[in-house]
Amino acid sequence: MVQYIYEFGPKKTDGDSSQKNLLGGKGANLAEMAKLGLPVPPGFTISTTCCNDYFALEGCLPGTLEAQIRKAMANVELQMGMGFGDLENPLLVSCRSGARSSMPGMMETILNVGLCSATIPGLIEKTGNEWFVYDAYRRLIMMYSDVVIEKAEQVKPKDGLGIRLKLEMVMNNLKNDKGYDTDTDICTEDMKQLCDRFKKKIKEDLGIDFPDDPWEQLMGAVGAVFKSWNGKRAIAYRRIEHIPNSWGTAVNVQSMVFGNMGDTSATGVAFTRDPATGQNRFYGEWLVNAQGEDVVAGIRTPNPLNNDTKNSQNEHLPSLEEIMPDLYKQLFAIRNRLEDHYQDMQDIEFTIQEGRLYMLQCRVGKRTATAALNMAMDMLEEGRIDEKTMVGRIDPKILDDLLHPIVDPSAEQTAIRVADGLPAGPGGAYGQIVFTSEDAVRWAKANKKVVLVREETNPEDIEGMRAAAAVLTARGGMTSHAALVARGWGKCCIVGAGALKINLETRELRVGTRLYKEGDILTLNGTKGVVYEGQLKMKDATENVNFQRFMSIADSYRTMKVRANADTPEDARRARDFGAEGIGLFRTEHMFYGVNSDKPLFLLRKMILSKTMAERKEALAELFPFVKEEISKTLTIMDGMPVTMRLLDPPLHEFVPQGVENQQEIADALRIDLEEVIKRSEQLKESNPMMGHRGVRLGITYPEIVEMQVLAIFEAAAELIQIGKHPLPEIMVPVSCNEKELAFAKKIVDACYEQTLAKYSLTSIGYMYGTMIEIPRAALIADKMAEHAQFFSFGTNDLTQMTFGFSRDDVGALMNDYLDNGILLADPFETLDQEGVGNLITTAVAGGRKARPDIKLGICGEHGGDPASVEFCHKAGLTYVSCSPFRVPIARLAAAQAAIKYN
Ligand code: PEP
Ligand code: MG
Repeated sequence: MVQYIYEFGPKKTDGDSSQKNLLGGKGANLAEMAKLGLPVPPGFTISTTCCNDYFALEGCLPGTLEAQIRKAMANVELQMGMGFGDLENPLLVSCRSGARSSMPGMMETILNVGLCSATIPGLIEKTGNEWFVYDAYRRLIMMYSDVVIEKAEQVKPKDGLGIRLKLEMVMNNLKNDKGYDTDTDICTEDMKQLCDRFKKKIKEDLGIDFPDDPWEQLMGAVGAVFKSWNGKRAIAYRRIEHIPNSWGTAVNVQSMVFGNMGDTSATGVAFTRDPATGQNRFYGEWLVNAQGEDVVAGIRTPNPLNNDTKNSQNEHLPSLEEIMPDLYKQLFAIRNRLEDHYQDMQDIEFTIQEGRLYMLQCRVGKRTATAALNMAMDMLEEGRIDEKTMVGRIDPKILDDLLHPIVDPSAEQTAIRVADGLPAGPGGAYGQIVFTSEDAVRWAKANKKVVLVREETNPEDIEGMRAAAAVLTARGGMTSHAALVARGWGKCCIVGAGALKINLETRELRVGTRLYKEGDILTLNGTKGVVYEGQLKMKDATENVNFQRFMSIADSYRTMKVRANADTPEDARRARDFGAEGIGLFRTEHMFYGVNSDKPLFLLRKMILSKTMAERKEALAELFPFVKEEISKTLTIMDGMPVTMRLLDPPLHEFVPQGVENQQEIADALRIDLEEVIKRSEQLKESNPMMGHRGVRLGITYPEIVEMQVLAIFEAAAELIQIGKHPLPEIMVPVSCNEKELAFAKKIVDACYEQTLAKYSLTSIGYMYGTMIEIPRAALIADKMAEHAQFFSFGTNDLTQMTFGFSRDDVGALMNDYLDNGILLADPFETLDQEGVGNLITTAVAGGRKARPDIKLGICGEHGGDPASVEFCHKAGLTYVSCSPFRVPIARLAAAQAAIKYN
């Protein structure tokens, strides 16, 4: 029999924190806390294996599960001295999802399972608190009808409104009718009636009686939590985070403890250090007389945990430290214990039931990039972790956020300050305001920068939050869903800006006397929590001393070099600033696109549309000084470092002049008529240009093009040598698939080399000759290619295109279908397909090394800046990775982490 159940609690604990794959993060850590002797209410975890079996059985719970649950439940009952379904002393349980890595708010939770007409009187008798019992019951009905009855069964609400919303409307109507301000004002009699009204509404709308049997409730809840793994928002979140569908979720069934039993009860969420700044101070929020969902749902503004961390939104509210000092002390001791044990910042949930503290969760806390950096450095200094662990503490992807812009402080001084809120996600951003997740997605697709403004975000807003440049909410605390998700992504976010009055119908935002309409621009400082009117100036955030220190420690473990793909002198300078150790790809053609490109582009067009060798040579001679100057500038900036110059790559028709004016200009230059220009342009068109007349193939047809470029490289280098510089050019042949192509181009290179030495009276110019590997055939015959090439650079953009047969320029829509259907886990143009493309790379590495043991190996496709791909490159034994300048720090850290992991 498969063991599906793992118990935890003061008396018996089966698992521990190493078993996240089986028990999910929440289950594994509950077990660990129980083992540490912390006050964890007893319960059990149903494994992720069971979730996968449930899906394999097409939505049926495995036959042996109920018996295993009953056995574990008997143990829990024994420890609690209560009985599930017992009439006098009824035990209630919570049912929570818990995947291997946390997916905040993406799956479901049901509290108070076990309350029914038979157990209600017993619980009232026992607690002497009728209000509390009916409050718990109405919460169960709301959660259960939403999660188990509606969502899990995929019932489509008739009028588009979900049952939870409808029940909330029933509750709000009652509060309005009776003049109740908050939920806790509702009197017992009304709470009781509310439960009846809820059940009636469920029957009317969904046609189902609310289950009145504890076991029916429990088994329904378990299945529904499993099902929520495949809910819409969980799937959307997994796609963004590249989490495989096959992981499944665990379910944690745990004895309920109640934070809503009156003024000596409370519930809260806390971080062992400040998740926004990384400061070493206990940070959290709590609510008296409430259940956990109230804190994260952002319904009430939560109180601060201690006096140290009060902010402008909650300074008027008393802290736990003030109201319950002994319990705060106890919690603080647990905080220290957990940090000592995990040596990392933990995110914890606790509940106080009638003066007794219970721990409901702990996990490694999500944090902003700044906080991650500061905490890692602090913990190294505190002697908690060593350098290698510290280097592993920062996800390379979030370095991006450290380098992302912040609002220019001088611009802030004169800006109109619209509102204040909590600084939930770092950095600065501006955008046009929109009020729904759908609009955020739509506007972003139309290349607009948007700020998603919501009353409070709920997990259904996930795609809109992703699409938005920033997120702004009127309600919610630092631990609300919006804050957690934004922090996880490093997205600029402000929550709980209470002054915002949002009108969804008119799509307007009112703040005091100011009115903003959809499309108006706001700027957010997510690090401080301030909203400004209009678009403020942004500033680069690279000058961070801690960041420089962290990176230099990381670099000391790195064995692979990191270069940048840089096509202009400006890019080259930025690449050096970010720590690049050379240029892995200089795309010559970019000098024909950017600023000051008019003249060289004109000459290139003239060359392309030349018919005779004489015409072409004339055009090339005119182009030569421009190419040489561009190369010289880059070699100067990168002095002493290698620069890989790639010969002209794209199909010529990309440069053909469009529009009569341009065409006429070329016609005049070539002394031919307009018709002839149009005719010659037509002749250059190809059906499959990416597989057409491009790369080295151009050089085979027109050797003089190669000659011009190579001469420009050598002459630029020679002139720099003469003034005492140290240029290190590397000449790279693109789109090759046959060793004879390399031999052909090498002859031209040799001739140019000799010609340059003679012209400048030099005895040598240090350079290398190599090729891109971007066609599968080249990878398969790498040994032959290496006979001519001193280096390979894997062009994984084309290599992916050619290996999959996916057009890199058109694959977008198709890729979504592949990802939605789980055929591909990630876009292979973003993260390297290790199975297929990776196989070609390792084949080519082996072939190349066989023929030339000292061959230099690099990668210059987009993958060079993707952490998982960088790890692969390290394992494959590459000499360097090359990526866009902004991703250089990411690649440096990913390479250091790979070295620590595998060396
Ligand atoms: C590649 O194909 O991976 C590459 C770097 O070249 P390009 O993107 O210019 O085709
Ligand atoms: Mg290419």
